[in-house]
Amino acid sequence: GQCVLVCPTGALGERDETDRALDYICDPELTTVIQFAPAVRVAFGEEFGMPPGTNVQGHVIAACRKIGVDVVLDTNFAADVVIMEEGIELLERLKAGRKPTFTSCCPAWINFAEIHYPDILPLLSSTKSPQQVLSTLAKTYLPEKLGVPREKIRVISIMPCTAKKDEAVRPQLHMDGGLPETDVVLTTREFARLLRREGIDLKDLEPSEFDNPYMSEFTGAGAIFGTTGGVMEAAVRTIYAVVNGKELEDVELTQLRGFEGVRTATVNLGGPFGDVKVAMCHGLGDTRALVEKVRSGDADFDFIEVMACPGGCVDGGGSLRSKKAYLPLAMARRETIYNVDRTRKVRQSHNNEQVKTLYRDFLDAPNSEKAHKLLHTHYSERSRDMHQTVKEVWDDITMST
Ligand code: SF4
Repeated sequence: GQCVLVCPTGALGERDETDRALDYICDPELTTVIQFAPAVRVAFGEEFGMPPGTNVQGHVIAACRKIGVDVVLDTNFAADVVIMEEGIELLERLKAGRKPTFTSCCPAWINFAEIHYPDILPLLSSTKSPQQVLSTLAKTYLPEKLGVPREKIRVISIMPCTAKKDEAVRPQLHMDGGLPETDVVLTTREFARLLRREGIDLKDLEPSEFDNPYMSEFTGAGAIFGTTGGVMEAAVRTIYAVVNGKELEDVELTQLRGFEGVRTATVNLGGPFGDVKVAMCHGLGDTRALVEKVRSGDADFDFIEVMACPGGCVDGGGSLRSKKAYLPLAMARRETIYNVDRTRKVRQSHNNEQVKTLYRDFLDAPNSEKAHKLLHTHYSERSRDMHQTVKEVWDDITMST
């Protein structure tokens, strides 16, 4: 059977799961669904010798079809859904005087908090990550739309990150009856290996488009999840509109864009909330320092985004990466992501038409009872793993193998 051992640190490493993915794809009884993360489309081309930051979204879609995947979906769509859930959750917490709220979409950060700072777990947003939101909806909402039983669906995700493999096997991210939400996670490197084995060179493919009418549309806000500061920026665009009933005029929060370990900003949300203090941080040292300050009462923030990898997912441990080259590579990839945002017709998650349909037809409203049951999770202390130092844990979960 399938290994459901939960690796406490996310150090499952890069166990090669391309065979399992191919088995699912080749099984005529199954409907295979694939999703790929915001950062994948700007890093994957490099595996095939394309210049850093080339946007290969259309190539990835074409490659998925060529190997026989039935439904190609976009994790960016789920990022938009995450903003709806996390944004409303944040406003509810602010109303109740609970702060700060930490983001929850980076599983390496979640593991780190569970192991080293279990006392802050109640501060973490309960919203699942985009990977898990997409997978859950692919086995609940999509079966209704496609008329396929959920037992026949297998979800494969292509991620920039090895920690996503660990996330997929968390017991709390299984459905009733023990069915995993996400069946297989392939890192970008593994996916490249799979394509090469099948004799596919990404460069030779004619770029294709998404064609699923339910879970593939995304906004600029969903796209910027791939880079540090992006979740925060996307969230502010939506919660501002929820509070004020009109769109934020300047949607680019440039104060949050940069490569420093910690960036902070004050955003005037208006309504009863007034000024809201936000921070984003990435990398071990700065995250640890910021968490310590929150615990000692020396940091006064309402909302904090944490990404384990310096630069965010654009330089995740599952993609081509070199420690020394980190900055130029990450900058090229990030620039492409910002370009995607700038050129999207719709740049706010709440204006995504497919997201609106999802809430109208299926979830009722953000944070509704049904949305809570399906799209939120919980965390648990893992301090028994404290025999590892903070640095060892961090290196395990963020470094490539
Ligand atoms: Fe994975 Fe790194 Fe992104 Fe976290 S920041 S989700 S560890 S790639």
